Amino acid sequence: MNSIQKTLLAFSLVFCCALSAQHSSYWQQEAHYTMELSLDHTKHQITGKQSIRYVNNSPDTLRRMYIHLYFNSFKPGSRMDQRCDQLPDPDGRIAKRIKDMSESEIGFQKINDLRINGESQSFSVDGSLLRMDLNRAILPGEEVLLETQFDAQVPKQIRRSGRNNSEGVEYTMTQWYPKIAEYSPRGWHTQQYVNREFFGVFGSFDVKIEIDSKFVLAGTGEIVNACELDKKVAFSYCSEAKNGKEKRQTWHFKAEDVHDFAWAADRDFLVKKTLNNEGTPVYFVRKKDTDKDAWDLLEGYTHGFFTEMKNRFGQYPYPQFSVIQGGDGGMEYPMCTMILGRSEAKDIKGMVGLVVHEAAHNWFYGIIATDEQQYPWMDEGFTTFAEEEVMNALFEENQQNPHFSSLRAYRYLVEKGWQEPLSTPADHYMRNRAYGVSSYSMGSLYLTQLEYIVGEEVFRRSIKQYFNVWKFKHPSPDDLLFILERNSGMQLHWFHDLWIGTTQKIDYEIVGVNETQEGKLSISLKNGGSFPMPLSLEVVLRSGKTERYYIPVDLTTKAKQTEETTLPTWPWTQSDYTFEIEASLGEIESIRIDKEGFMADINEKNNLWPQAKD
Ligand SMILES: [Zn+2]
Repeated sequence: MNSIQKTLLAFSLVFCCALSAQHSSYWQQEAHYTMELSLDHTKHQITGKQSIRYVNNSPDTLRRMYIHLYFNSFKPGSRMDQRCDQLPDPDGRIAKRIKDMSESEIGFQKINDLRINGESQSFSVDGSLLRMDLNRAILPGEEVLLETQFDAQVPKQIRRSGRNNSEGVEYTMTQWYPKIAEYSPRGWHTQQYVNREFFGVFGSFDVKIEIDSKFVLAGTGEIVNACELDKKVAFSYCSEAKNGKEKRQTWHFKAEDVHDFAWAADRDFLVKKTLNNEGTPVYFVRKKDTDKDAWDLLEGYTHGFFTEMKNRFGQYPYPQFSVIQGGDGGMEYPMCTMILGRSEAKDIKGMVGLVVHEAAHNWFYGIIATDEQQYPWMDEGFTTFAEEEVMNALFEENQQNPHFSSLRAYRYLVEKGWQEPLSTPADHYMRNRAYGVSSYSMGSLYLTQLEYIVGEEVFRRSIKQYFNVWKFKHPSPDDLLFILERNSGMQLHWFHDLWIGTTQKIDYEIVGVNETQEGKLSISLKNGGSFPMPLSLEVVLRSGKTERYYIPVDLTTKAKQTEETTLPTWPWTQSDYTFEIEASLGEIESIRIDKEGFMADINEKNNLWPQAKD
């Protein structure tokens, strides 16, 4: 072992133990589902049974439990319907359609029998939430077997889940089964479903779906009995599939280390199997009447996507991935995504963007499974950040700052006066638009700002560590900050608290550029906003030469490593700041704060001297 190896070992020991200290009190629940269901496509109804091995890894005795019955929200008068009425800008895909649903079009889930360890358990249902006051408490470390028998009706699709949507997909089966609510250190997560985010228990799924033999299925996990199915529908999954004679057949899926299970079924689905650059099977599942050229083009981009994600964040860990025409916007599920399928080859970028966003959620939602209700910006925002970078790479756009569109969206929100704190729970934003721009764009800018503060090298190393340390877990915002603070040696919680907890804004300004009596150039800056940040400045001389300067802010307690000339620290309580450089006024072409536009300054105009004329 040479000295470099020793240093590396010492570093990794320190790092490993520091991270395990961060972990030492961490726990999460487990739910292992075995489900058998039968779908009657003439009535759009399911009968099913579940047996769920539930492990209480918490240090708490559980005296009650909750189960989500999401389909119950799909009917007139439900909380999803009511919530649409409350918003000034409701989702048009739901607002009108939900009110017109007939009895045969609504969704429901009815639990006919519920047992824990074989003993009948009473329960009550309110909307999309089932509550059990347990006959016998579940002790810390205890494992129980929870069994249900249920009937359900698949709603006519109004958003994300359901049947017979506008693209004609017969079944998009998401949030379709009775799903145990998560219990975390924050307690039970019992949100009624009003059409926003999800949070689930990690575990495994063993799912058998009995259905008419003409249907082709795709979904989360691997189809473990593909070779036993009728080859007319399963040959893409197994080239040795047989000639089936039965009217109905059972598809058997298995998935490990996931917290949800989604599937889709259609009699006109075509399945194409490909391998990505890492050799992982990627299935493309579309209806026969879609544009073949567009779907063929999508393959190369999707394979490139996996490579870009691996290089930036970490390796995709599952045995397969499926891009499925779900037919209603785009939505993420473990090991698959449901997308709109009627795109055309001439508009391939929009289709790729949708796949890239939804598939990137497998990293930030699927694998790093944050509490999306509480921190929607951690899954939508981090996914948007990844999407912006991957799209920039896939389409060779070579933008120095691929996150500028998020900054534009944020400035628009501020201008409109619609900004709400990012700490707002997903369901409680007062406008759909505010929820969208906040969680997607401001969530992406959260990472851009942190990269700007700590520097590129530290940030890139940290985000990979975050992925590796927290995969298959539920990190909180502190867990990323912890890694960034350790790797940078900087204090960063001030940034988090202001960006997430307040609507304070960044607005720096160049207020004056003057020659001093000593023949130097004095540059005066002002913090006109309420949100302090470190500053990068670029001075362009008429000779064509450029000089870069960096002004640390005292809140970080340490300056970042940079090749820019580091100037004295700017205390955050001080409104003005002046520094001098060796130049005359006549030599200066321009001076600009944050030339690349990484910092979320609400007014770009006054970052430049001389200011551009309108
Ligand atoms: Zn998303």
